Amino acid sequence: MSTLDFIRDDVKAMTAYHVADRPEGFIKLDAMESPYHPFAGPPELLNEWTALLAQADVHLYPNPAASGLQEALREAFAIPEAASVALGNGSDELIQFITLLLAKPGATMLAVEPGFVMYKQNAALFGMNYVGVPLNNDFTLDLAAVLAAIEAHNPALTFIAYPNNPTGVHFTREEVEAVIRAAKGIVVVDEAYGAFSGDSFLPQAGSMDNLVVMRTVSKIGFAGIRIGYAAGSANIMNELAKILPPYNMNQLSLATAKFAMQHFEIINDNVLKLKAERERMFAELSAIGRLKAFPSEANFITVRVPDAVGLFNTLKQNNILIKKLHGNHPLLDQCVRLTIGSPEQNDAVLNIIRKLYA
Ligand SMILES: *Cc1c(COP(=O)(O)O)cnc(C)c1O
Repeated sequence: MSTLDFIRDDVKAMTAYHVADRPEGFIKLDAMESPYHPFAGPPELLNEWTALLAQADVHLYPNPAASGLQEALREAFAIPEAASVALGNGSDELIQFITLLLAKPGATMLAVEPGFVMYKQNAALFGMNYVGVPLNNDFTLDLAAVLAAIEAHNPALTFIAYPNNPTGVHFTREEVEAVIRAAKGIVVVDEAYGAFSGDSFLPQAGSMDNLVVMRTVSKIGFAGIRIGYAAGSANIMNELAKILPPYNMNQLSLATAKFAMQHFEIINDNVLKLKAERERMFAELSAIGRLKAFPSEANFITVRVPDAVGLFNTLKQNNILIKKLHGNHPLLDQCVRLTIGSPEQNDAVLNIIRKLYA
């Protein structure tokens, strides 16, 4: 028997999540990162931030609860007092531990497809049954199908990304409310892109018993510090707190995030710039007859093109990285996902798309 024989067969059959590396000079529009370093503006701000980092107690374990970050997040995002908050090392970690929390033998996770791939992967890892309900062809929610699946499978855990990744298309508030009401188990409304959308369930966190609202700072300029948070009723969040690793955050990230919340106007300015660019890109892409751009409430646009692989390769030859969705799900036939970048980066993408298809 070899040592490898002790390792789970299902894990051995998996392939690792591939993080694309970025050769020097590449424009990276594949992972919904912000093109803007939040503290790259006035030098005083950069100096203040680096001074804070220099003071961080890196020789001591972090104390996330006493770091002041929760309070800063509550204030910046108007998290209701009725809600309890959990901090995660990115919302990826919260997805993992919320799944672990609900993974009783035989329990079911429900999500829509195409959706965020981590939900399904965690269901598999923690031994939950997984039910994926297809979206409509235009990526809107098939509410009747979701409600029927809830009725049939009684899911312990339902994930709805609001707005959805990788499609960006808006689900209505009424539809999501209907899902929360119909489900007896926990419904996580994943608002990773909430800052770019006109709506949020954060105000309801803590007042609907089975609702957990999950957010992250990754898509608003801080993908590098790995901070996410979840807000929900105390009953649920107290149980989650029991299984989260006590030192899951680090001193440098905690200090940076708290500093960021005190300079929230910078985050907001960058979000507004990206939203304006999204509208411009959507109009430009929609003006090209051979493309179908799907309306997006996030910091990316999903587009159906005549040849997704060809476009992906041509952009790559021109040092631009995007996400090829084609092949991931039948509904994503010939689709690519373009992260919204700076005006210059977006123009570089548009110029190549126009040359190919206009
Ligand atoms: C990016 C993303 C996340 C993960 O965010 P992190 O906080 O960076 O781990 C969660 N959910 C959705 C839908 C995402 O697109």
